[in-house]
Amino acid sequence: MKINQKKCVGCGNCVPFCPMGAIHIENSVATVNEEECVECNTCFRCCESENLSPFLVKTVRKLLGRIHLRHDARMDICPTGALDPPDLEWPRSLRRAFSDPTVTHDSTGVAGRGTEEIKTNDITGRIGPGDAGVVIDLGRPGTGVFLYEIDKMTRALSKLDISYEEKNPLSAIMPDLKTGALQKDTLQEKVLSAIIEIKIKLDQLPEVLQIVETVAGELDTVISVGVASRCDEDGAIPHQSICLAAGYTLSLNGKTNLGLGCPAAQEVSS
Ligand code: SF4
Ligand code: SF4
Repeated sequence: MKINQKKCVGCGNCVPFCPMGAIHIENSVATVNEEECVECNTCFRCCESENLSPFLVKTVRKLLGRIHLRHDARMDICPTGALDPPDLEWPRSLRRAFSDPTVTHDSTGVAGRGTEEIKTNDITGRIGPGDAGVVIDLGRPGTGVFLYEIDKMTRALSKLDISYEEKNPLSAIMPDLKTGALQKDTLQEKVLSAIIEIKIKLDQLPEVLQIVETVAGELDTVISVGVASRCDEDGAIPHQSICLAAGYTLSLNGKTNLGLGCPAAQEVSS
């Protein structure tokens, strides 16, 4: 995010909207820490621009100050329209693609983090009997994640025989899906969060979770892991007992897909 230093009157309204704490007021104007800014545009979307003259705003404030009065604009207003989202070039454009939920990823046509995850398995049929889908969610508002941290995780996971979801924007910047290494020119970019999606065999689950846990300890971000598998005919959840036996507890906010959507194409034909 760019802030027009000539227009900014340092009111501070944009500061609390930044999920990365990247905006600071210095010498009565707002500045952005470019390394921390993930180009999510939240500050710009949340602060409606009044486009008032900075000179007028400063003068009125000064005059009011002389008689010990002050006027603050509404909290969701940038009085002078100083927030100025820049046109971003590659690879910095990745920050906005992953962090601004209103932007659609070119590689997948999906907004937000660019993937429908395994929630659409009814339609895609990607996770079949005997398979497990694993989503590793890195970063959150307040912490974010550098792509070099994601790269560390994907390269460690790729030592196993796994397959990456191709309709995921991380796969689009992974020149070789076998090594899991991300494109070198992207590694210094920071995003709000991103999701690694892999498909494995159910019996690989303990090893995968162990790798995630080990690498997570070396990263400076937050990680959550989701596992999905198809229920057995008696309704049992195959990955549940495997996770518990490996020493991992499952949270109670699991989602159950009842299979009411279109049956997966390959199953119709088989
Ligand atoms: S674009 Fe997002 S991360 Fe950057 S300064 Fe604005 S709110 Fe903060
Ligand atoms: S809301 Fe606008 S004028 Fe106020 S500090 Fe932020 S950029 Fe500057």
